[in-house]
Amino acid sequence: YAKDEGRNNYQFYRKSLSTKTPELLSLDKSLRHALERDEFLLYYQPRVNIITEEITGMEALLRWYHPEMGIVAPSVFIPLAEASGLIIPIGEWVLKQACVQNKVWQNAGFPPMTVAVNLSPKQFRQPKLVETVAGILEATDLDPQYLELEITETTAIQDIEFTTSVLKDLEAMGVLISIDDFGTGHSSLHRLQVLPLHNLKIDKSFVSELTTDDKVAHIIKAIVDLGRSLGLRLIAEGVEKPEELNFLRSIHCDDVQGYLFYKPLSVQQATELMASKINGKISDL
Ligand code: C2E
Ligand code: MG
Ligand code: MG
Ligand code: MG
Repeated sequence: YAKDEGRNNYQFYRKSLSTKTPELLSLDKSLRHALERDEFLLYYQPRVNIITEEITGMEALLRWYHPEMGIVAPSVFIPLAEASGLIIPIGEWVLKQACVQNKVWQNAGFPPMTVAVNLSPKQFRQPKLVETVAGILEATDLDPQYLELEITETTAIQDIEFTTSVLKDLEAMGVLISIDDFGTGHSSLHRLQVLPLHNLKIDKSFVSELTTDDKVAHIIKAIVDLGRSLGLRLIAEGVEKPEELNFLRSIHCDDVQGYLFYKPLSVQQATELMASKINGKISDL
């Protein structure tokens, strides 16, 4: 018996090893303690109006400050958190933290703006999402119009009836809804037409190919035109070059987010940036 058991355990161990490298396994383990050890932090990337270049909002981007490895990127740990279900408490922490921070900025006298929070597929599908969002808005006393929730195109179309009912509840609450990474999910805007959406974020993979592939320019223009006809605000992600910005301006995209303007900033950097904008205005008077 002992032998059999040992063998089974070994096989079980091998099986999990074959799908995850030892490095990922240990990350997975430390991810379990990251929340209680207070190792997460949010960075904020400003989004700007394409004409005035004024900041119209910030996207909250999660970082994990691992004691030995330093800052771990979300592309590494979000899939782990999603797989283990840890994304639910982590996602709730992000929502709360982003609302608290936005309220701190408003209380400090900065012009009110939206803070966008990314929702993972599992987080979006948890039964208590609407309740959680409502509770956080109430607890932080943030006006719902300053919270924006981003779901990817793939999440949106997975079960469109479910998506529609959740989004309608969120919209009724007054929060804004964005489709993130648009263009990568092989759906059509036509399918998304039934959803109560506000913003469409064109995936950065399109923007980065804009200057090297003529076809991509046509695709982006088609997305912008169609999005416009559905009454959506168009936001381009990953804008790095002036040529990209010029093209996006020529086709009347609304907002841009990318390294050309700002990288994701720490709370302190973001606060200093907003303070400098206000001071700039005051000294202009
Ligand atoms: P996303 O929501 O599409 O966020 C935009 C990503 O593009 C961010 O990467 C941002 O740093 C990066 N980016 C912005 N401008 C540029 C640019 O000009 N060039 C390039 N090359 N990249 C740019 P980040 O912060 O590494 O996040 C990656 C993804 O991880 C996010 O993609 C989002 O899907 C996910 N994520 C981040 N934070 C959260 C979170 O709190 N919850 C969930 N569920 N997912 C998150
Ligand atoms: Mg996003
Ligand atoms: Mg995106
Ligand atoms: Mg993404």
